[in-house]
Amino acid sequence: MALTLFRGLRSNCFQLYPSLYIARKHGVFYCSMTSAEGQTATQEKQQTQLKSSPRKDSPKIEEVLKNYEAVIGIETHVQLATLTKAFCSCPYNYGAQPNTSICPICMGLPGALPVLNSKVIESAVKVGLALNCKLSLSSKFDRKQYFYPDLPKGYQISQFDIPIASDGYVDIDLPVEFGGGHRKFGITRVHMEEDAGKLLHTGNGIFLRKLHFSTIKFFVDLNRAGVPLLEIVSEPDMRTGVEAAEYAAELQRLVRYLDLGLEFGYRLVFRAIDFEILRQVKLHSQGQADQIVQETRLWEEGAQVAAFFDATIATGADVKLAANWIMGDIAAYMNNEKLSVNDIKLTPQELGELIASIKGGTISGKIGKEILLELMTKGGTVKGLIKEKDLVQANLNKLSNATINRFVDLIDNIQMWSLTSGWQAAVVFIWDTIVDPAEIEKIVDRVLADNPKQLEQYRGGKTKLQGYFAGQIMKETKGKANPGLLNKILLEKLNSKA
Ligand SMILES: [Zn+2]
Repeated sequence: MALTLFRGLRSNCFQLYPSLYIARKHGVFYCSMTSAEGQTATQEKQQTQLKSSPRKDSPKIEEVLKNYEAVIGIETHVQLATLTKAFCSCPYNYGAQPNTSICPICMGLPGALPVLNSKVIESAVKVGLALNCKLSLSSKFDRKQYFYPDLPKGYQISQFDIPIASDGYVDIDLPVEFGGGHRKFGITRVHMEEDAGKLLHTGNGIFLRKLHFSTIKFFVDLNRAGVPLLEIVSEPDMRTGVEAAEYAAELQRLVRYLDLGLEFGYRLVFRAIDFEILRQVKLHSQGQADQIVQETRLWEEGAQVAAFFDATIATGADVKLAANWIMGDIAAYMNNEKLSVNDIKLTPQELGELIASIKGGTISGKIGKEILLELMTKGGTVKGLIKEKDLVQANLNKLSNATINRFVDLIDNIQMWSLTSGWQAAVVFIWDTIVDPAEIEKIVDRVLADNPKQLEQYRGGKTKLQGYFAGQIMKETKGKANPGLLNKILLEKLNSKA
């Protein structure tokens, strides 16, 4: 049930932004929940809480309201189901392929001239009249400037000081099961505006406000940019969740009757709002009123992750790599396992160690991922796990580029590898390399002994055969010999008059 409500809110068809003010009677007003983002986050918290059965010791809303007064105003967005967008002739079909319904006007390209869709005015007038508003016979649009990736123009066309309709009201009869009674809720204003595009992102949705980069990729779909909306703002006349829900239900009936907008559902509005009232009152009575503003489960999780990130950086770890690991593999694991960062066994110290081991070339990124999983599930140390798995690889940094390139030439010459890229071959080779000079020397000796004819030719001046020998050694070691050592030892042996 709760899901229906919150999906409805998120899909932007018909959005409710209740602002809730809690005041001790004759006291100061506190307010919260003003931004759409904060709103959704708060509702998510409510949703979680609503799932659990109400505890016996939690106060009843009626009792709470003896000492406190909840002051609720609701801001509603109705997405109009017009054939085309508000200021251009692009159709809007929900769910269409991204960016297939855009033009220079809704993209806000220079020189584009918006032309108002008359159906938008018609809908606004109908809603204004249905809500007993005064209509403004001379209305205008304003630019609300803000930067956001889903807003290509850099401003939203909206109405500021002269909305098309204002000073209205709705009459409501409360259901008998909730005590009945008649209520009249004021409507502050109804105005026309346009919607923004949509941001889609890969990744897990955990938001780290401290990071300026992340592994999450964002995609912008501008199909929705310029779709007409009506914003209906109520007076703060409601006092309970039931009243707010009845107000919302009345608006829904009205929009449906006028056949203007898209369907939506929000049966649990009143429970969500009542929950928010209880939560805020509790904080207030505990002297924690300053925490009321947008305190959410998501935010807390984000703060925990941010603390983990900070602690990892404090170990000296590379900032960008730490962010990549935390936002990538670690967040994905927590998400899948429904764990918080405090539940996993990995410590910031070990993450720092892991990052350093990969950066320093002790282990590969692939092996790093394997170790990370063990660290998260079972704990332990990076050094211990590397030893346990014998995962040490040759230190890439110690090999000069010249050495690597020489080896690349080598393997290209002898065509031992089917890999098209020498670089790839080199990397494959270095992965699991033999770095013990004694071991390489043994193999070099064997190869030279097995190829006396070629050795004679080499010593006779055909030095190109060095590549042939190197190839044979590589074959013997299955490509595992360290190229620097191999060439050094091979040259010594080839040039020594044994
Ligand atoms: Zn357009």
